[in-house]
Amino acid sequence: MADKLSGVGVSTGVGYGPALRLTRAVPEPPADARHDGDADAEARRAFAAAEEVARDLTDRGERAGGEAREVLAAQALMARDPALADDIKRRIGEGAAAARAVSDAMAVYREMLAGAGDYLSGRVADLDDVRDRIVARLLGVPVPGIPQSTSPFVLVAEDLAPADTAMLDPERVLAFVTREGGPTSHTAILARSLGLPAVVACAGADQITDGTMLLVDGASGDVLSGPDPTQAEAARAAAAARAAAAAESTGPGRTRDGHTVPLLANIGGPQDLPAALENGAEGVGLYRTEFLFLDRADAPGHEEQVAAYRAVLEAFPGGKVVVRTLDSGADKPLAFLPPAAAEPNPALGERGLRMMRRHPEMLKSQLAALAEAQRDTDADLWVMAPMVTDVDDAAWFAAAAGEAGIEHAGIMIEVPAAALRARHLAEAADFFSIGTNDLTQYTCAADREVGGLGRFQDPWQPAVLELVAAAAKAAAAAERSCGVCGEAAADPVLACVLTGLGVTTLSMGATALPLVRAALARTTLAQCREAAQGALAARGNEDAKRIARQALPGLAELGL
Ligand code: PEP
Ligand code: MG
Repeated sequence: MADKLSGVGVSTGVGYGPALRLTRAVPEPPADARHDGDADAEARRAFAAAEEVARDLTDRGERAGGEAREVLAAQALMARDPALADDIKRRIGEGAAAARAVSDAMAVYREMLAGAGDYLSGRVADLDDVRDRIVARLLGVPVPGIPQSTSPFVLVAEDLAPADTAMLDPERVLAFVTREGGPTSHTAILARSLGLPAVVACAGADQITDGTMLLVDGASGDVLSGPDPTQAEAARAAAAARAAAAAESTGPGRTRDGHTVPLLANIGGPQDLPAALENGAEGVGLYRTEFLFLDRADAPGHEEQVAAYRAVLEAFPGGKVVVRTLDSGADKPLAFLPPAAAEPNPALGERGLRMMRRHPEMLKSQLAALAEAQRDTDADLWVMAPMVTDVDDAAWFAAAAGEAGIEHAGIMIEVPAAALRARHLAEAADFFSIGTNDLTQYTCAADREVGGLGRFQDPWQPAVLELVAAAAKAAAAAERSCGVCGEAAADPVLACVLTGLGVTTLSMGATALPLVRAALARTTLAQCREAAQGALAARGNEDAKRIARQALPGLAELGL
Protein backbone atom coordinates (compact mmCIF):
# COMPACT_ATOMS: atom_id res chain seq x y z
CA MET A 1 0.00 0.00 0.00
CA ALA A 2 1.48 3.34 -1.02
CA ASP A 3 2.06 6.14 1.50
CA LYS A 4 0.64 9.48 0.54
CA LEU A 5 2.27 12.80 1.34
CA SER A 6 0.56 16.07 0.54
CA GLY A 7 2.04 19.37 -0.43
CA VAL A 8 1.17 22.22 -2.72
CA GLY A 9 1.22 21.40 -6.42
CA VAL A 10 2.91 24.34 -8.13
CA SER A 11 3.70 23.08 -11.60
CA THR A 12 1.39 20.64 -13.34
CA GLY A 13 2.27 17.25 -14.80
CA VAL A 14 2.97 13.84 -13.34
CA GLY A 15 6.42 12.42 -12.69
CA TYR A 16 7.18 8.85 -11.65
CA GLY A 17 10.59 7.50 -10.73
CA PRO A 18 13.14 6.87 -7.98
CA ALA A 19 13.84 9.59 -5.43
CA LEU A 20 17.26 11.15 -5.23
CA ARG A 21 18.02 13.70 -2.55
CA LEU A 22 19.87 16.91 -3.12
CA THR A 23 23.28 16.92 -1.49
CA ARG A 24 23.61 20.09 0.45
CA ALA A 25 25.94 19.44 3.38
CA VAL A 26 29.18 21.38 3.27
CA PRO A 27 31.32 20.87 6.38
CA GLU A 28 31.43 23.77 8.81
CA PRO A 29 34.99 25.19 8.81
CA PRO A 30 36.53 24.62 12.32
CA ALA A 31 35.83 27.55 14.66
CA ASP A 32 39.54 28.11 15.32
CA ALA A 33 40.75 27.60 11.73
CA ARG A 34 43.61 30.07 11.13
CA HIS A 35 45.79 30.76 8.13
CA ASP A 36 49.57 30.40 7.99
CA GLY A 37 50.37 34.06 8.46
CA ASP A 38 50.18 35.46 4.93
CA ALA A 39 46.93 37.42 5.27
CA ASP A 40 47.16 38.98 1.79
CA ALA A 41 47.53 35.61 0.08
CA GLU A 42 44.68 34.18 2.14
CA ALA A 43 42.42 37.14 1.27
CA ARG A 44 43.28 36.67 -2.41
CA ARG A 45 42.26 33.03 -2.12
CA ALA A 46 38.93 34.01 -0.56
CA PHE A 47 38.17 36.63 -3.21
CA ALA A 48 39.16 34.28 -6.02
CA ALA A 49 36.73 31.65 -4.68
CA ALA A 50 33.95 34.23 -4.35
CA GLU A 51 34.62 35.50 -7.87
CA GLU A 52 34.58 31.94 -9.26
CA VAL A 53 31.23 31.37 -7.60
CA ALA A 54 29.85 34.66 -8.94
CA ARG A 55 30.98 33.75 -12.45
CA ASP A 56 29.59 30.25 -12.20
CA LEU A 57 26.21 31.59 -11.05
CA THR A 58 26.09 34.19 -13.82
CA ASP A 59 27.03 31.55 -16.33
CA ARG A 60 24.30 29.20 -15.12
CA GLY A 61 21.82 32.07 -15.35
CA GLU A 62 22.84 32.88 -18.91
CA ARG A 63 22.47 29.26 -19.92
CA ALA A 64 19.12 28.82 -18.20
CA GLY A 65 17.67 32.16 -19.39
CA GLY A 66 14.22 33.34 -18.32
CA GLU A 67 13.65 34.49 -14.79
CA ALA A 68 16.52 32.27 -13.63
CA ARG A 69 18.93 34.74 -15.18
CA GLU A 70 17.83 37.57 -12.87
CA VAL A 71 17.68 35.39 -9.80
CA LEU A 72 21.18 34.01 -10.33
CA ALA A 73 22.54 37.43 -11.23
CA ALA A 74 21.27 38.63 -7.85
CA GLN A 75 23.11 35.77 -6.15
CA ALA A 76 26.26 36.65 -8.05
CA LEU A 77 25.92 40.20 -6.67
CA MET A 78 25.84 38.74 -3.16
CA ALA A 79 29.13 36.91 -3.82
CA ARG A 80 30.68 40.17 -5.05
CA ASP A 81 29.25 42.44 -2.37
CA PRO A 82 32.01 44.95 -1.46
CA ALA A 83 30.89 45.33 2.18
CA LEU A 84 31.07 41.58 2.56
CA ALA A 85 34.53 41.54 0.97
CA ASP A 86 35.72 44.18 3.47
CA ASP A 87 34.45 42.12 6.37
CA ILE A 88 36.13 38.95 5.05
CA LYS A 89 39.39 40.82 4.62
CA ARG A 90 39.21 42.22 8.15
CA ARG A 91 38.62 38.76 9.63
CA ILE A 92 41.50 37.27 7.65
CA GLY A 93 43.66 40.19 8.83
CA GLU A 94 42.87 39.07 12.37
CA GLY A 95 44.14 35.57 11.53
CA ALA A 96 40.99 33.63 10.52
CA ALA A 97 41.35 31.08 7.71
CA ALA A 98 39.54 32.09 4.49
CA ALA A 99 36.69 29.56 4.84
CA ARG A 100 36.06 30.60 8.45
CA ALA A 101 36.16 34.30 7.56
CA VAL A 102 33.65 33.80 4.72
CA SER A 103 31.35 31.77 6.93
CA ASP A 104 31.41 34.33 9.78
CA ALA A 105 31.06 37.38 7.55
CA MET A 106 28.09 35.82 5.79
CA ALA A 107 26.45 34.93 9.09
CA VAL A 108 26.27 38.66 9.90
CA TYR A 109 24.80 39.40 6.46
CA ARG A 110 22.34 36.56 6.92
CA GLU A 111 21.00 38.00 10.19
CA MET A 112 20.43 41.32 8.50
CA LEU A 113 18.51 39.68 5.64
CA ALA A 114 16.47 37.44 7.92
CA GLY A 115 15.21 40.46 9.84
CA ALA A 116 14.56 42.68 6.84
CA GLY A 117 10.99 41.85 5.82
CA ASP A 118 9.30 39.14 3.83
CA TYR A 119 10.97 39.38 0.47
CA LEU A 120 14.51 39.77 1.77
CA SER A 121 14.12 37.05 4.37
CA GLY A 122 13.03 34.83 1.47
CA ARG A 123 16.50 35.43 0.03
CA VAL A 124 18.25 33.83 3.02
CA ALA A 125 18.23 30.46 1.24
CA ASP A 126 19.90 32.12 -1.76
CA LEU A 127 22.58 33.58 0.51
CA ASP A 128 23.21 30.25 2.26
CA ASP A 129 23.68 28.69 -1.13
CA VAL A 130 26.28 31.31 -2.09
CA ARG A 131 28.11 30.74 1.23
CA ASP A 132 28.15 26.95 0.77
CA ARG A 133 29.52 27.30 -2.73
CA ILE A 134 32.37 29.60 -1.66
CA VAL A 135 33.22 27.57 1.45
CA ALA A 136 33.16 24.28 -0.53
CA ARG A 137 35.66 25.74 -2.98
CA LEU A 138 37.94 26.96 -0.21
CA LEU A 139 37.83 23.61 1.59
CA GLY A 140 38.26 21.65 -1.63
CA VAL A 141 35.05 19.61 -1.08
CA PRO A 142 32.30 18.97 -3.67
CA VAL A 143 30.04 21.94 -4.37
CA PRO A 144 26.50 21.15 -3.21
CA GLY A 145 23.96 20.62 -5.92
CA ILE A 146 21.89 18.29 -8.03
CA PRO A 147 22.95 14.65 -7.59
CA GLN A 148 24.63 13.14 -10.60
CA SER A 149 22.73 10.23 -12.08
CA THR A 150 22.68 8.75 -15.52
CA SER A 151 19.06 7.62 -15.22
CA PRO A 152 16.01 9.85 -14.62
CA PHE A 153 15.00 10.61 -11.03
CA VAL A 154 12.63 12.61 -8.84
CA LEU A 155 14.61 15.28 -7.03
CA VAL A 156 13.80 15.62 -3.33
CA ALA A 157 15.15 18.49 -1.27
CA GLU A 158 14.60 20.60 1.78
CA ASP A 159 14.41 23.54 -0.57
CA LEU A 160 16.03 24.29 -3.90
CA ALA A 161 18.31 27.21 -4.46
CA PRO A 162 17.72 29.03 -7.75
CA ALA A 163 21.16 27.91 -8.93
CA ASP A 164 20.05 24.28 -8.58
CA THR A 165 16.65 24.71 -10.15
CA ALA A 166 17.97 26.65 -13.09
CA MET A 167 20.28 23.83 -14.09
CA LEU A 168 17.80 20.99 -13.75
CA ASP A 169 17.84 18.95 -16.88
CA PRO A 170 14.20 18.15 -17.74
CA GLU A 171 15.47 15.04 -19.55
CA ARG A 172 17.03 13.72 -16.36
CA VAL A 173 14.75 15.15 -13.67
CA LEU A 174 11.20 13.80 -13.71
CA ALA A 175 9.75 16.05 -11.02
CA PHE A 176 10.72 17.64 -7.78
CA VAL A 177 9.44 17.68 -4.24
CA THR A 178 10.52 20.10 -1.53
CA ARG A 179 9.65 20.36 2.13
CA GLU A 180 9.81 24.16 2.12
CA GLY A 181 8.68 26.81 -0.35
CA GLY A 182 5.31 28.23 -1.31
CA PRO A 183 3.37 28.67 -4.56
CA THR A 184 5.10 31.96 -5.30
CA SER A 185 8.63 30.98 -4.21
CA HIS A 186 11.42 31.15 -6.75
CA THR A 187 11.45 27.38 -6.82
CA ALA A 188 7.81 27.29 -7.91
CA ILE A 189 8.16 30.01 -10.53
CA LEU A 190 11.25 28.40 -12.05
CA ALA A 191 9.64 24.94 -12.03
CA ARG A 192 6.79 26.30 -14.10
CA SER A 193 9.15 27.97 -16.52
CA LEU A 194 11.01 24.66 -16.97
CA GLY A 195 7.72 22.78 -17.37
CA LEU A 196 8.65 20.29 -14.60
CA PRO A 197 5.98 18.83 -12.28
CA ALA A 198 6.66 20.16 -8.79
CA VAL A 199 5.24 19.92 -5.28
CA VAL A 200 6.44 22.28 -2.55
CA ALA A 201 5.64 22.63 1.18
CA CYS A 202 5.44 18.85 1.36
CA ALA A 203 5.53 17.80 5.02
CA GLY A 204 7.36 14.49 5.35
CA ALA A 205 9.54 15.03 2.28
CA ASP A 206 12.58 14.89 4.57
CA GLN A 207 11.73 11.27 5.41
CA ILE A 208 11.94 10.11 1.78
CA THR A 209 15.03 8.01 1.19
CA ASP A 210 17.05 7.67 -2.00
CA GLY A 211 15.65 5.08 -4.39
CA THR A 212 12.04 5.16 -3.09
CA MET A 213 9.71 5.12 -6.09
CA LEU A 214 7.62 8.32 -6.11
CA LEU A 215 4.57 9.38 -8.07
CA VAL A 216 4.40 13.17 -8.04
CA ASP A 217 1.26 14.97 -9.15
CA GLY A 218 2.13 18.63 -9.69
CA ALA A 219 -1.55 19.57 -9.98
CA SER A 220 -3.05 18.01 -6.84
CA GLY A 221 0.13 18.24 -4.75
CA ASP A 222 -0.02 14.51 -3.93
CA VAL A 223 3.20 12.52 -3.61
CA LEU A 224 2.75 8.74 -3.42
CA SER A 225 5.70 6.72 -2.25
CA GLY A 226 5.88 3.12 -3.45
CA PRO A 227 2.67 3.17 -5.55
CA ASP A 228 1.49 0.18 -7.55
CA PRO A 229 3.82 0.39 -10.59
CA THR A 230 1.08 -0.31 -13.15
CA GLN A 231 -1.19 2.37 -11.71
CA ALA A 232 1.66 4.82 -11.48
CA GLU A 233 2.64 4.17 -15.06
CA ALA A 234 -1.00 4.66 -16.12
CA ALA A 235 -1.15 8.02 -14.29
CA ARG A 236 2.06 9.13 -15.93
CA ALA A 237 0.88 8.00 -19.36
CA ALA A 238 -2.44 9.81 -18.88
CA ALA A 239 -0.60 13.01 -18.02
CA ALA A 240 1.62 12.62 -21.08
CA ALA A 241 -1.45 12.00 -23.27
CA ARG A 242 -3.05 15.11 -21.78
CA ALA A 243 0.00 17.17 -22.61
CA ALA A 244 -0.01 15.77 -26.16
CA ALA A 245 -3.74 16.52 -26.61
CA ALA A 246 -3.14 20.00 -25.29
CA ALA A 247 -0.28 20.56 -27.69
CA GLU A 248 -2.57 19.69 -30.59
CA SER A 249 -4.99 22.51 -29.91
CA THR A 250 -3.85 25.60 -31.74
CA GLY A 251 -5.23 28.96 -32.75
CA PRO A 252 -6.97 31.62 -30.72
CA GLY A 253 -8.70 30.74 -27.46
CA ARG A 254 -12.37 29.94 -27.90
CA THR A 255 -15.04 27.66 -26.49
CA ARG A 256 -16.42 24.78 -28.55
CA ASP A 257 -19.32 26.99 -29.66
CA GLY A 258 -17.06 29.84 -30.74
CA HIS A 259 -17.10 32.26 -27.80
CA THR A 260 -13.64 33.86 -27.97
CA VAL A 261 -11.42 34.19 -24.93
CA PRO A 262 -8.02 35.58 -25.98
CA LEU A 263 -5.22 33.64 -24.31
CA LEU A 264 -2.31 35.83 -23.29
CA ALA A 265 1.04 35.31 -21.62
CA ASN A 266 2.41 36.56 -18.31
CA ILE A 267 6.01 37.64 -18.76
CA GLY A 268 8.76 39.09 -16.61
CA GLY A 269 10.71 40.60 -19.50
CA PRO A 270 11.82 40.07 -23.11
CA GLN A 271 13.57 36.82 -22.10
CA ASP A 272 10.15 35.17 -21.69
CA LEU A 273 8.99 36.01 -25.21
CA PRO A 274 10.21 32.84 -26.98
CA ALA A 275 8.14 30.60 -24.68
CA ALA A 276 5.10 32.87 -25.07
CA LEU A 277 5.31 32.71 -28.86
CA GLU A 278 6.02 28.97 -28.92
CA ASN A 279 2.92 28.30 -26.84
CA GLY A 280 0.73 30.41 -29.09
CA ALA A 281 0.10 33.43 -26.85
CA GLU A 282 -2.14 35.93 -28.61
CA GLY A 283 -0.45 38.77 -26.80
CA VAL A 284 0.79 39.67 -23.35
CA GLY A 285 -1.74 39.95 -20.54
CA LEU A 286 0.71 40.84 -17.80
CA TYR A 287 4.19 42.25 -18.23
CA ARG A 288 5.60 42.39 -14.69
CA THR A 289 7.95 45.33 -15.23
CA GLU A 290 9.31 45.25 -11.69
CA PHE A 291 11.82 42.56 -12.72
CA LEU A 292 13.65 45.34 -14.55
CA PHE A 293 13.90 47.29 -11.28
CA LEU A 294 14.60 44.58 -8.69
CA ASP A 295 18.03 43.75 -7.26
CA ARG A 296 19.73 46.92 -8.36
CA ALA A 297 20.91 50.06 -6.65
CA ASP A 298 19.25 52.59 -9.01
CA ALA A 299 16.21 52.67 -11.25
CA PRO A 300 16.85 51.70 -14.89
CA GLY A 301 17.35 54.74 -17.13
CA HIS A 302 14.98 55.92 -19.86
CA GLU A 303 16.79 54.20 -22.73
CA GLU A 304 17.08 50.88 -20.91
CA GLN A 305 13.37 50.94 -20.13
CA VAL A 306 12.40 51.88 -23.70
CA ALA A 307 14.47 48.98 -25.06
CA ALA A 308 12.90 46.43 -22.69
CA TYR A 309 9.35 47.59 -23.44
CA ARG A 310 9.89 47.90 -27.16
CA ALA A 311 11.26 44.36 -27.44
CA VAL A 312 7.98 43.07 -26.05
CA LEU A 313 5.75 45.34 -28.14
CA GLU A 314 7.57 44.34 -31.32
CA ALA A 315 7.08 40.64 -30.60
CA PHE A 316 3.31 40.98 -31.00
CA PRO A 317 2.64 43.21 -34.02
CA GLY A 318 -1.04 44.15 -33.90
CA GLY A 319 -1.44 42.11 -30.71
CA LYS A 320 -2.41 43.32 -27.31
CA VAL A 321 0.36 43.94 -24.77
CA VAL A 322 -0.74 44.77 -21.22
CA VAL A 323 2.08 46.31 -19.23
CA ARG A 324 1.80 46.66 -15.50
CA THR A 325 3.57 49.62 -13.98
CA LEU A 326 6.09 49.02 -11.23
CA ASP A 327 4.65 46.79 -8.50
CA SER A 328 7.20 47.30 -5.72
CA GLY A 329 6.96 46.93 -1.97
CA ALA A 330 5.94 43.97 0.22
CA ASP A 331 7.56 40.85 -1.27
CA LYS A 332 9.27 42.94 -3.98
CA PRO A 333 11.11 45.76 -2.18
CA LEU A 334 13.39 48.06 -4.15
CA ALA A 335 16.70 49.19 -2.67
CA PHE A 336 16.15 52.69 -4.06
CA LEU A 337 12.50 53.03 -2.99
CA PRO A 338 12.19 51.95 0.62
CA PRO A 339 8.81 52.23 2.37
CA ALA A 340 8.23 55.49 4.24
CA ALA A 341 8.31 53.65 7.58
CA ALA A 342 9.04 50.16 8.91
CA GLU A 343 6.08 47.94 8.06
CA PRO A 344 5.00 45.14 10.41
CA ASN A 345 2.73 43.73 7.64
CA PRO A 346 4.35 44.67 4.33
CA ALA A 347 1.64 43.01 2.21
CA LEU A 348 -0.77 45.51 3.73
CA GLY A 349 1.68 48.37 3.41
CA GLU A 350 3.00 50.76 0.86
CA ARG A 351 3.12 48.67 -2.29
CA GLY A 352 2.17 48.96 -5.95
CA LEU A 353 0.40 52.18 -6.81
CA ARG A 354 0.64 53.36 -3.20
CA MET A 355 4.39 53.63 -3.59
CA MET A 356 4.01 55.48 -6.89
CA ARG A 357 1.73 58.03 -5.30
CA ARG A 358 4.61 58.97 -2.99
CA HIS A 359 7.07 58.88 -5.91
CA PRO A 360 5.07 60.24 -8.85
CA GLU A 361 8.29 61.03 -10.74
CA MET A 362 9.06 57.30 -10.86
CA LEU A 363 5.69 56.50 -12.44
CA LYS A 364 5.99 59.45 -14.79
CA SER A 365 9.35 58.26 -16.09
CA GLN A 366 8.00 54.75 -16.63
CA LEU A 367 4.93 55.99 -18.48
CA ALA A 368 7.12 58.24 -20.65
CA ALA A 369 9.34 55.26 -21.54
CA LEU A 370 6.27 53.18 -22.40
CA ALA A 371 4.80 55.91 -24.61
CA GLU A 372 8.09 56.21 -26.44
CA ALA A 373 8.48 52.44 -26.79
CA GLN A 374 5.11 52.25 -28.47
CA ARG A 375 5.97 54.87 -31.07
CA ASP A 376 6.74 53.24 -34.44
CA THR A 377 5.39 49.83 -33.41
CA ASP A 378 2.06 48.27 -34.40
CA ALA A 379 1.39 46.85 -30.96
CA ASP A 380 -1.70 47.67 -29.02
CA LEU A 381 -0.32 48.96 -25.71
CA TRP A 382 -2.48 48.81 -22.59
CA VAL A 383 -1.03 49.99 -19.30
CA MET A 384 -2.37 49.13 -15.86
CA ALA A 385 -1.61 49.92 -12.25
CA PRO A 386 -1.24 47.32 -9.47
CA MET A 387 -2.77 47.46 -5.98
CA VAL A 388 -5.49 49.97 -6.81
CA THR A 389 -7.89 50.32 -3.89
CA ASP A 390 -10.47 53.00 -4.64
CA VAL A 391 -11.79 55.40 -7.27
CA ASP A 392 -9.32 58.08 -6.24
CA ASP A 393 -6.43 55.68 -6.97
CA ALA A 394 -7.90 54.73 -10.36
CA ALA A 395 -8.55 58.35 -11.35
CA TRP A 396 -5.07 59.44 -10.24
CA PHE A 397 -3.48 56.74 -12.37
CA ALA A 398 -5.70 57.46 -15.37
CA ALA A 399 -4.70 61.15 -15.22
CA ALA A 400 -0.98 60.29 -15.06
CA ALA A 401 -1.30 57.86 -17.98
CA GLY A 402 -3.35 60.35 -20.01
CA GLU A 403 -0.71 63.06 -19.48
CA ALA A 404 1.95 60.68 -20.79
CA GLY A 405 -0.15 60.01 -23.91
CA ILE A 406 -1.09 56.42 -23.01
CA GLU A 407 -4.35 55.55 -24.73
CA HIS A 408 -5.59 52.58 -22.68
CA ALA A 409 -5.14 52.97 -18.92
CA GLY A 410 -6.60 50.30 -16.70
CA ILE A 411 -6.30 48.84 -13.24
CA MET A 412 -5.65 45.56 -11.58
CA ILE A 413 -8.39 44.28 -9.34
CA GLU A 414 -6.53 42.59 -6.52
CA VAL A 415 -7.87 44.31 -3.43
CA PRO A 416 -11.36 43.22 -2.33
CA ALA A 417 -12.39 46.89 -1.93
CA ALA A 418 -11.72 47.42 -5.63
CA ALA A 419 -13.75 44.35 -6.63
CA LEU A 420 -16.68 45.36 -4.44
CA ARG A 421 -16.74 48.88 -5.87
CA ALA A 422 -15.85 47.87 -9.41
CA ARG A 423 -18.85 49.68 -10.92
CA HIS A 424 -17.45 52.95 -9.57
CA LEU A 425 -13.87 52.17 -10.53
CA ALA A 426 -15.00 51.42 -14.09
CA GLU A 427 -15.72 55.13 -14.49
CA ALA A 428 -12.01 55.85 -14.09
CA ALA A 429 -10.48 52.82 -15.81
CA ASP A 430 -10.50 51.67 -19.43
CA PHE A 431 -10.15 48.02 -18.44
CA PHE A 432 -9.78 45.64 -15.51
CA SER A 433 -7.34 42.79 -15.01
CA ILE A 434 -7.98 40.64 -11.96
CA GLY A 435 -4.90 39.56 -10.01
CA THR A 436 -6.27 36.47 -8.32
CA ASN A 437 -3.01 35.82 -6.42
CA ASP A 438 -3.36 38.97 -4.36
CA LEU A 439 -7.15 38.98 -4.48
CA THR A 440 -7.09 35.55 -2.79
CA GLN A 441 -4.45 36.67 -0.28
CA TYR A 442 -6.50 39.70 0.75
CA THR A 443 -9.92 38.06 0.61
CA CYS A 444 -8.91 35.12 2.79
CA ALA A 445 -6.39 37.09 4.90
CA ALA A 446 -3.69 34.53 4.08
CA ASP A 447 -0.19 35.82 3.28
CA ARG A 448 0.80 34.35 -0.08
CA GLU A 449 4.43 33.96 1.05
CA VAL A 450 3.57 31.72 4.00
CA GLY A 451 3.58 27.94 3.54
CA GLY A 452 0.89 25.78 5.09
CA LEU A 453 -2.17 28.02 4.76
CA GLY A 454 -3.53 25.62 2.14
CA ARG A 455 -7.15 26.19 1.39
CA PHE A 456 -7.00 29.91 2.19
CA GLN A 457 -4.57 30.39 -0.67
CA ASP A 458 -6.88 28.72 -3.15
CA PRO A 459 -8.63 30.95 -5.73
CA TRP A 460 -11.39 28.33 -5.85
CA GLN A 461 -12.67 29.80 -2.57
CA PRO A 462 -16.24 30.85 -3.45
CA ALA A 463 -15.61 34.23 -1.75
CA VAL A 464 -12.87 34.94 -4.30
CA LEU A 465 -15.09 33.77 -7.16
CA GLU A 466 -17.86 36.11 -5.97
CA LEU A 467 -15.50 39.05 -6.17
CA VAL A 468 -14.38 37.99 -9.64
CA ALA A 469 -18.05 37.79 -10.68
CA ALA A 470 -18.74 41.27 -9.25
CA ALA A 471 -15.81 42.80 -11.12
CA ALA A 472 -16.69 41.06 -14.40
CA LYS A 473 -20.32 42.15 -14.12
CA ALA A 474 -19.38 45.77 -13.44
CA ALA A 475 -16.95 45.71 -16.37
CA ALA A 476 -19.59 44.32 -18.73
CA ALA A 477 -22.13 46.95 -17.64
CA ALA A 478 -19.57 49.67 -18.37
CA GLU A 479 -18.48 47.97 -21.63
CA ARG A 480 -14.99 47.38 -20.34
CA SER A 481 -12.90 44.26 -20.77
CA CYS A 482 -12.06 42.26 -17.66
CA GLY A 483 -9.20 39.76 -17.82
CA VAL A 484 -7.66 37.49 -15.22
CA CYS A 485 -3.86 37.44 -14.98
CA GLY A 486 -3.34 35.62 -11.67
CA GLU A 487 -2.35 31.97 -11.41
CA ALA A 488 -6.08 31.02 -11.41
CA ALA A 489 -6.15 31.50 -15.18
CA ALA A 490 -3.58 28.70 -15.56
CA ASP A 491 -5.87 26.08 -14.00
CA PRO A 492 -7.79 24.64 -17.00
CA VAL A 493 -10.95 23.86 -15.02
CA LEU A 494 -10.95 27.21 -13.27
CA ALA A 495 -10.26 28.92 -16.60
CA CYS A 496 -13.64 27.57 -17.81
CA VAL A 497 -15.31 28.80 -14.62
CA LEU A 498 -13.76 32.26 -15.01
CA THR A 499 -15.06 32.36 -18.57
CA GLY A 500 -18.51 31.48 -17.24
CA LEU A 501 -18.23 34.29 -14.70
CA GLY A 502 -17.79 36.76 -17.57
CA VAL A 503 -14.02 37.15 -17.66
CA THR A 504 -13.00 38.24 -21.17
CA THR A 505 -9.30 37.27 -21.43
CA LEU A 506 -7.04 34.81 -19.60
CA SER A 507 -3.34 35.43 -19.06
CA MET A 508 -0.89 32.91 -17.62
CA GLY A 509 2.65 31.57 -17.62
CA ALA A 510 3.32 30.41 -21.17
CA THR A 511 3.59 26.68 -20.44
CA ALA A 512 -0.02 26.61 -19.16
CA LEU A 513 -1.48 27.99 -22.40
CA PRO A 514 -1.91 24.74 -24.41
CA LEU A 515 -3.94 22.92 -21.76
CA VAL A 516 -6.19 25.91 -21.08
CA ARG A 517 -6.74 26.32 -24.84
CA ALA A 518 -7.62 22.63 -25.11
CA ALA A 519 -9.99 22.81 -22.12
CA LEU A 520 -11.91 25.76 -23.54
CA ALA A 521 -12.16 24.06 -26.92
CA ARG A 522 -13.96 21.14 -25.26
CA THR A 523 -16.67 23.14 -23.48
CA THR A 524 -19.52 25.40 -24.47
CA LEU A 525 -20.13 28.83 -23.02
CA ALA A 526 -23.36 27.52 -21.44
CA GLN A 527 -21.40 24.78 -19.68
CA CYS A 528 -18.86 27.33 -18.45
CA ARG A 529 -21.73 29.41 -17.07
CA GLU A 530 -23.30 26.40 -15.38
CA ALA A 531 -19.93 25.48 -13.85
CA ALA A 532 -19.52 29.06 -12.65
CA GLN A 533 -22.95 29.17 -11.02
CA GLY A 534 -22.29 25.81 -9.36
CA ALA A 535 -18.94 26.98 -8.00
CA LEU A 536 -20.45 30.21 -6.67
CA ALA A 537 -23.12 28.24 -4.84
CA ALA A 538 -20.62 25.74 -3.35
CA ARG A 539 -19.84 25.55 0.37
CA GLY A 540 -16.09 25.69 0.01
CA ASN A 541 -13.14 25.47 -2.38
CA GLU A 542 -13.10 21.67 -2.73
CA ASP A 543 -16.86 21.55 -3.32
CA ALA A 544 -16.55 24.31 -5.89
CA LYS A 545 -13.97 22.28 -7.84
CA ARG A 546 -16.05 19.13 -7.75
CA ILE A 547 -19.31 20.81 -8.78
CA ALA A 548 -17.69 22.82 -11.55
CA ARG A 549 -15.94 19.77 -12.92
CA GLN A 550 -19.26 17.89 -13.17
CA ALA A 551 -20.66 20.65 -15.36
CA LEU A 552 -17.72 20.35 -17.77
CA PRO A 553 -17.93 16.78 -19.15
CA GLY A 554 -15.70 17.53 -22.16
CA LEU A 555 -12.69 17.89 -19.88
CA ALA A 556 -12.66 14.13 -19.33
CA GLU A 557 -11.06 13.79 -22.78
CA LEU A 558 -8.08 15.63 -21.32
CA GLY A 559 -8.00 13.46 -18.21
CA LEU A 560 -8.93 16.49 -16.08
C1 PEP B 1 -1.80 38.76 -8.86
O1 PEP B 1 -1.71 39.29 -7.75
O2 PEP B 1 -2.63 37.88 -9.14
C2 PEP B 1 -0.88 39.16 -9.94
C3 PEP B 1 -1.05 38.72 -11.17
O3 PEP B 1 0.18 39.94 -9.61
P1 PEP B 1 1.49 39.40 -8.86
O4 PEP B 1 1.42 37.91 -8.78
O5 PEP B 1 2.64 39.89 -9.66
O6 PEP B 1 1.35 40.08 -7.53
MG1 MG C 1 -0.54 41.09 -7.55
